[in-house]
Order: sequence, then C-alpha cells, then structure tokens
Amino acid sequence: MIPASMLAVRHHAPGDLRVERVPVPEIGSQDALLKVGAVGICATDQKIAARGHFKILSGSAARTLGHEVAGTIVAVGEEVSRLALGTRVAVVPNLGCGHCPDCVAGDMHLCPDYDAIGITIDGGMAEYLRLPARALAAGNALVLPPDLPYHHATLLEPLACCYNSLAACHLKPGGSLLVVGAGPMGLMHVALGKAFGAAPIIVSDIQEPRLALARALGADVVIDARRESVAQRVRELTGGRGISAVVVAVGSAEAQAEAPEWTARKGTVNFFASLPSGQDAVPVPANRIHYQQLAITGTTGANVTHFRHTLSLVSTGRVEVAALVTGRYPLAEALPAFAQGRLPEHARVVLEPEEG
Ligand SMILES: [Zn+2]
Ligand SMILES: [Zn+2]
Repeated sequence: MIPASMLAVRHHAPGDLRVERVPVPEIGSQDALLKVGAVGICATDQKIAARGHFKILSGSAARTLGHEVAGTIVAVGEEVSRLALGTRVAVVPNLGCGHCPDCVAGDMHLCPDYDAIGITIDGGMAEYLRLPARALAAGNALVLPPDLPYHHATLLEPLACCYNSLAACHLKPGGSLLVVGAGPMGLMHVALGKAFGAAPIIVSDIQEPRLALARALGADVVIDARRESVAQRVRELTGGRGISAVVVAVGSAEAQAEAPEWTARKGTVNFFASLPSGQDAVPVPANRIHYQQLAITGTTGANVTHFRHTLSLVSTGRVEVAALVTGRYPLAEALPAFAQGRLPEHARVVLEPEEG
C-alpha cells in the first residue's frame, strides 16, 4: 500500500532545510515510483542546503534533495512494460534533452539543458521518488543485483563520477596515481583506483582523520601536506619521474597550479573538483606542460555507461564500498545527519527511510 503522504528533506532557501510531510508524488502513464531504500548526502547537497544552486532560482518552490538514490520500484504507469514491480534499482540522476550532440553521444550529464533528480526536480531524500518517463527511456534506472544493499548502491553515483575521472586520466595498470585531497571523493578515487590497477596510490591531505581513512581504503602512501612537501615526497617515491595521473579532488587553486609539477612526462592532471565561481584564474607552468607533454583535463558528473561499469566493479567486489559508508541515519534525522556529513571523519553519510 502506497500512503498518501511521506517524509521528505526539502530545501526551501539557503540555510533553510526542513524535514517535512508532503504528498507522495503522483506518476504519469510512463513514469515509475521508487520506494527509496537509501540516499546519500554529498557535498552538492551540503552546498545546496547552505548556498542554493544556480539551477534552483531563488523564490522557487521547495525542492526535495537527494541524487544518490537506490530503492525498489513499487508502481509503474500503465504504459511502462519493461520495469517489473519489485525491481531494485539505482538511479542515474542526470537527465539530458536527448537530442543535442552530447546526449546523442551518451553524455547526458554534459547536456547544456540538463535536468537532475534532486536538483532541478524533486529527489530521493524522501520515502518515495517519481522516476520520470525520460529517465526510464534513457536507462537511468540501473537494475541492481539482489545482494547489493541499498546503502552501498547509493555510492554508485559518486563512484561513477570518479570512474569518469580515472577514465579521463588514461591510467594503465601499474601507473601511479596521486589523489590530492582525501575528502569523500578523494577516498572514492582510492577505492576505484585499485580496480583501475593504479600502483602506487598516493594521497595527500591536511587532515589526519582523512589520511587515516585513505590508508584504511588501501592508499599505499599518504602525505600530510601540512608537514611534508608533496613535491619532495613525489620525487622520492618516483625516483624523480613524477606521477602518471594526478587527480585534484579538492577545490584548491594552489593545488591545481602545482599539480603539473608532480606529474610524469606524458602524464595527465584531472581537475576533478571545481573552484568557487569567479575565482578560477589559475596560473599553470605552461613550459612544463609543453616540454613534458602533459595533458590537463577536467571531469564532472558521469554518464550511464560510467554507472554501468561502476556497478560491475562494485557488484563483483572489485571495489569495496562498505568502508565508505561511515554513517546511517533515518530520514527523520536528516538535519543531524547533514551536520555529521560535514565532519572530516566521514566519507559518506546515508539516509534510510524507515520501513512503513
Ligand atoms: Zn553527489
Ligand atoms: Zn542534451
């Protein structure tokens, strides 16, 4: 039985996040209704809650957050034939227009006219989520294996973004990886980097709890950037050659400017984290990029294919996700859970709507 109302975590305005009772979404003839099993709280959710989002116009109606979602299909519209009730799915949140060059190439997340579940349309921090027709048509509901718990499946979204990142680095097995910043996304690069065959995996950060998490997740070397020079440690560790792939997973202009200095000849730097808008003029060592034949790229989000490959790695245990879920809260405790999620000892805090 689907109830008439449900709990939802709603962004009303910057600094005004509420857990409140709202109607269960109605579905159209080509939509599906997901009973949310778990939903992750990520930095984007924290940013929206604190400062809003350029795609959420100020003064617009409250928005249910949550784009790292997994759950069970409990209702489908009369025209939906390919999705059985009871199917367990993870949701790919980015929805493209479907016909621009990026969408046609499969990169819905790069569509200039994108929508995103949990940002431009109501998301999964609720007991139920409407999956719109175009999400179903584009393959955005990914069927999960029966033994992958929902709170683990929520990690597919951020891990898929890391998959996009590491794929853009063209890392070969045995190539070295430096992850700059051991926040949740940096930690996920460590977990996924192992599956990509990166060796050694080196992580730098300025907070000891995060470095401890990186070590626990399998980083071969951690560098405390407050006490040690990253450049010097990289020289020591690589015999002066530098790192094959450097992922800057922290929004630091200094780190972006310095990253080419740490990179090996023909290596790649990926600017994974963004900088605050208007503060993104970064001086880079152009001659080093030229003479060492470096590639500097950026990645953002993930497409359905990145998700599918990530699911393969997670469901076969190639990427261990259990240690990345460091907090589990009922939906009703979303506000304390958001506060917890900001602490450095957490990789991912998830919300789990209670049974009922
Ligand atoms: Zn996210
Ligand atoms: Zn498009």
